[in-house]
Amino acid sequence: MKRVAVVGAGAMGLAAAYHALKAGHRVVVYEADKVAGGMAAHFDFGGLSIERYYHFVCKADRPTFDLMAELGIGDRMRWVQTKMGVYSGGRLQPWGDPIALLRYSGLSPVEKLRYGLMMFMATRRKAAGDLEQISAKQWIERACGPRVYDAMWRPLFDLKFYEYADNISAAWLWTRIKRVGTSRKSLFQEELGYIEGGSETLVRALVAAIETLGGEVRLGAPVAEIVVENGAVAGVRSGGTVEPYDAALSTIPTPLVSKMIPGLPEAARKAYDAIQNVGVACLIFKLRKSVTLNFWVNVFDPKMGIPGFVEFSRLRPMADTIVYVPYYMPVTGANWRRSDADLLDEAFGYLKRVNPALTDADRIDSRAGRLLYAQPVCPPGFGATIPRTQTAIAGLQVADTCFYYPEDRGVSEGARWAKLMAAAIDDPSVWDREHRPFA
Ligand SMILES: Cc1cc2nc3c(=O)[nH]c(=O)nc-3n(C[C@H](O)[C@H](O)[C@H](O)COP(=O)(O)OP(=O)(O)OC[C@H]3O[C@@H](n4cnc5c(N)ncnc54)[C@H](O)[C@@H]3O)c2cc1C
Repeated sequence: MKRVAVVGAGAMGLAAAYHALKAGHRVVVYEADKVAGGMAAHFDFGGLSIERYYHFVCKADRPTFDLMAELGIGDRMRWVQTKMGVYSGGRLQPWGDPIALLRYSGLSPVEKLRYGLMMFMATRRKAAGDLEQISAKQWIERACGPRVYDAMWRPLFDLKFYEYADNISAAWLWTRIKRVGTSRKSLFQEELGYIEGGSETLVRALVAAIETLGGEVRLGAPVAEIVVENGAVAGVRSGGTVEPYDAALSTIPTPLVSKMIPGLPEAARKAYDAIQNVGVACLIFKLRKSVTLNFWVNVFDPKMGIPGFVEFSRLRPMADTIVYVPYYMPVTGANWRRSDADLLDEAFGYLKRVNPALTDADRIDSRAGRLLYAQPVCPPGFGATIPRTQTAIAGLQVADTCFYYPEDRGVSEGARWAKLMAAAIDDPSVWDREHRPFA
């Protein structure tokens, strides 16, 4: 039995703690926030408990289903036939299936054929292979032609990654296309999932299981330092006191790691510091009226500064319409300094543009949630730059949402990685066996 500290009570930290307890270790989870759940945490939106950041589940999310089954909440998954739309050329058009593609007005017949073929091949592809070395832009231009990139993808990339937009890994985009593209009832019908009660159902079940197994989740307890002595984890400093530990699992965003673990070798600190992220100001609206019939709407409109919006109540049934509008952006830009009220008014104006029947009287409530490190930026060749999860310090593992690249950040992949971290407490060679295609 080892004394294990887990830093961060997001999905990965909680799942790692749960598996470590099952393996017989003594575990304390430290969480800086006042609530557990990290990016998947809920908040009280005028009596409605809902995620700060929209969360949906795909059929490929096997580690989530396995974890839910273990926790006894396997029956809480719900599947819904959802629709996707695209707002382009001043009108809303269907999107996301072969018929919608054929009817779409923004591409030529040849471009549609190439686009459809690229999407189909992406869902069939088994490994990233050469996609790891090229950008998403190069991949799309090669497969569909430059006009398709400019018309369909550039607006999404520019409004998510800004100065990084043209240099995002094709492998990363491929796994995203595949995850959503294979979550279907049929070729013509997308099917996405949600957890009844929201992500909080999973978070609560994890916290309850941790406590039942004798572990502890300390909220409002930021870790100031993981103390390293003689090349091994010695303890954790939080709230002014140092408690002794044999092992520590850090699941906080990697840009925060160097400061928290000054005992790391210089090369490791540099590797964590080199990983870039964009932030998000994620707006949420409670409305009297629906905006569209779609769950997800991509926006291709130069006059609108958003890549899309998510009508979440089209997935999880709720009394009012709930819409998220994510403004992803580097936190160094001028946009980040705009006030929440300013962004909320702008975004609501966009929703009214998409659905002119929507009026100010339909806006019941709105909020903004902000994250400094919301989405890792993964350029071509990124895989080879990710440090190993098992660090050079004995007992110390470090991972965050970019460690399971080329998969995108997500609860399911976080749960998968967490299980490996827990197993590696006793057997660090787990990470030698783990398939790292680019390492
Ligand atoms: C807008 C948005 C939409 C998303 N949509 C989906 C989706 O639809 N489906 C999906 O599967 N995933 C989605 N995700 C991704 C998903 O939320 C994340 O992949 C997952 O929740 C990350 O979990 P984690 O534990 O790795 O990290 P986090 O949730 O970031 O947890 C890290 C925790 O560490 C804490 N912390 C930081 N510093 C310290 C410190 N010094 N001491 C103690 N604690 C500290 C933080 O407060 C945080 O709680 C979305 C994310 C965002 C931002």
